[in-house]
Amino acid sequence: MREKVVSGIRPTGKLHLGNYFGAFKNFIKLQDQFDCYFFIADYHSLTTHPTPGDLKGSVKRVLAEYIALGLDPEKCTVYFQSDVPETAELYLFLNMNAYMGELERVTSFKEKARTQPDNINAGLLTYPVLMAADILLHKAIKVPVGKDQEQHLEMARTFANRFNRLYNNEFFPEPQAFNFNTQLVKVPGLTGGGKMSKSAGESDTIFLDEPATSLNKKIMRAVSDSGPTEPGADKSQAVQNLFDLMSLVCTPETIGFFDTEHKNGSIRYGDLKKQLAADMETFIAPMRDKIESTLANEKMLQEIAHLGAAKARKSAQETMAQVREIIGFSKFYM
Ligand code: AMP
Repeated sequence: MREKVVSGIRPTGKLHLGNYFGAFKNFIKLQDQFDCYFFIADYHSLTTHPTPGDLKGSVKRVLAEYIALGLDPEKCTVYFQSDVPETAELYLFLNMNAYMGELERVTSFKEKARTQPDNINAGLLTYPVLMAADILLHKAIKVPVGKDQEQHLEMARTFANRFNRLYNNEFFPEPQAFNFNTQLVKVPGLTGGGKMSKSAGESDTIFLDEPATSLNKKIMRAVSDSGPTEPGADKSQAVQNLFDLMSLVCTPETIGFFDTEHKNGSIRYGDLKKQLAADMETFIAPMRDKIESTLANEKMLQEIAHLGAAKARKSAQETMAQVREIIGFSKFYM
C-alpha cells in the first residue's frame, strides 16, 4: 500500500506565492508517488466569518487553482473538507482529549488573538485539533506544508499518540511535515515583515493570477532600505526578503550579481526590483492564463468535486468505522 499524504489550503482568498512554494509545489510532485488527499479547507475558513457569498466564490476559485496549477484528479483525491462530514466527527472525538493549556500556547492562536481581539472564537483555539482530524482521518504520514505549520503538525502527533495510548497503541501513524528539500519553506511578504500572508494586506501578497500591472507596482513599491551603510554590511530584514523572493524565480547569475553589488555597497534597489518584477511576470503569466480558463470550465469542476467527495468519504468512512468501534460506540443493538 502506498503511503498516505494529506494537505489543504484555506479558501480565504486567492492562492499566493507562499501557498505555492510552501505547499502546492510539493503537492504536484507527491501525486505521482503517494496516495494523496488534497482538500480545500472550507471548515477552517469559518474562523474568520466569511459571508456565504464570499465562501461560495472562494471555494470554487481554489478548486480551479488546484487543477490549473497541476493537480490531476485521476492521480490524487481533490475534495472539499465540508463534503466529508466524518472530519467533524473525528474533530469532536479528538477535542475530548485536547487541553485548554496546550491549545492556548499555540503560536498561531496567540497571534490571531492579538490581531482579531473581537473574534477569538473556539474554532480558532481548536484549529490544530481540526487540522489533526483532517490528517488522521486518512491515516496520513506525510503532510506537505510551509514552515508556519510546523507546530500544528507537532500537535497532530500529540493527539494521535494520545488516542493511541488511550485506546489502541498502533491505530494512528505519526504524521510528519514534509518538503522534498528537507527544509520547510517560508516565503516572505513585500512589506518587510514575516511570511507572505493575505491577512498582512494586498500590498504584501503576490497572487498566482496577479495581473501584470499590479505585479509590477507591488514589487516596485516593496519595502527595502536606504542601502548598505558600508561595503560588506549585513542585509536588513526587508532586503533579505527581496533576495528570498529572487531565489524563487531568478537565475543564480542574477542573484549572484545583486549579492555582489550589495557586498560592494553599490546596489541599486530599483534595478533589483525591476529584474525581480520581470522574472516574476515570466513565472506568473502562464499560471494566470491557465487559472482563468479553468475557472470558466464549470462543468469539469463540478465533476472533479463529485469524484473527489466520493473518494475522500470512502477513505474517511473506513477510518471512522474503526474509530467508533475502538472508542466503544459499537452498540449492543447493532
Ligand atoms: P493557508 O493559506 O494558511 O491555509 O496555508 C495553506 C498552506 O500554504 C500551508 O501549508 C501553509 O504552510 C502554506 N503557506 C501559506 N503562506 C506561506 C508562506 N508565506 N510561506 C510558506 N508557506 C506558506
